[in-house]
Amino acid sequence: MELNLSPLNLSGIDETKRPLVIAGPCSAETEEQVMNTARQLAQKGIKIFRAGVWKPRTKPGGFEGKGEEALPWLKRVKEETGMLTSTEVATPKHVECALNAGIDLLWIGARTSANPFAMQELADSLKGIDIPVLVKNPVNPDLELWIGALERINGAGVNRLGAIHRGFSSIDQKIYRNAPMWHIPIELHRRCPQLPIFCDPSHIGGRRDLIAPLCQQAMDMGFAGLIVESHCNPDEAWSDAKQQVLPDVLDFILDRLVVRESSELTESLAALRKQIDELDNELMNLLTKRMRVSREIAVYKKEHNMAVVQTGRYSEILEKRGAQGVLCGMDADFIKKIYEAIHEESVRQQTELINK
Ligand code: PEP
Ligand code: MN
Repeated sequence: MELNLSPLNLSGIDETKRPLVIAGPCSAETEEQVMNTARQLAQKGIKIFRAGVWKPRTKPGGFEGKGEEALPWLKRVKEETGMLTSTEVATPKHVECALNAGIDLLWIGARTSANPFAMQELADSLKGIDIPVLVKNPVNPDLELWIGALERINGAGVNRLGAIHRGFSSIDQKIYRNAPMWHIPIELHRRCPQLPIFCDPSHIGGRRDLIAPLCQQAMDMGFAGLIVESHCNPDEAWSDAKQQVLPDVLDFILDRLVVRESSELTESLAALRKQIDELDNELMNLLTKRMRVSREIAVYKKEHNMAVVQTGRYSEILEKRGAQGVLCGMDADFIKKIYEAIHEESVRQQTELINK
């Protein structure tokens, strides 16, 4: 199914100018925190405010959002700063309350977009309503599920549609809180070129120091916008404290963004480089795991009084991997050099452990 799209049509905002920025705290905590953050952001020229009112939390007992009580605070943000307001909706009841409170833009979270039943209920509740809706990628890296979620909302007649890339859950959370897997939003862009895609560096990175580089990467890859968590007192935030930045810091980051005219060529080069970065990350993870196993072997060798270097085993590895490499189209000598280097590091780590 083709998406039937029209521009987001956000009043007072030039949508052709990249990046479109949505900023605000992860959660609306108190009226004071919301107003304080909003005023600072508005002063920095931010035009669209975000704040989570209903918070999907991994475990019960955490702060689950202030709920309806916080909606008048967003209304006040709009009245006093002129910013448009946005919040996450996960149920038809949320939609009804948000619409009654005059929220300008809705987004659907990653846990909700992973659930077709919830998406259909939301779509039904949006029938006949003209409001822009942004759909976050589902937590799992499934492009079809993401597109399906967009199609359900679009099927309800919502044409002012966008997507948010917030990264994907993965077992190995080495660098990112949610793995970016850039090829997925890039493929979404290829399939739906008219659909504006926002990058959410806060939930991808999970850390303040990753916000700037992730924003830049998103611009390099031709994303239309950014949705960034910003809080007037990030260290004291009731949710996602580690990833929120001060409005001043956000302004500093946005100021330094290099936004180049996106051409398909640079976009695809950037996409390919991104794939290389991701593959290198995987290589690094695999090497780390290999070294860990190798250290476990060292413990065994120590217990059984064996020498660190077992020449028979080493020759077997060099020979087998060389032949495998040739089958994969690589030079046998090149593979041999790599395994010599890996073996050397492995012996170094084993020796260190045995002599401890
Ligand atoms: C959020 O935007 O605060 C949020 C809960 O995001 P996600 O659905 O991406 O986890
Ligand atoms: Mn958050």
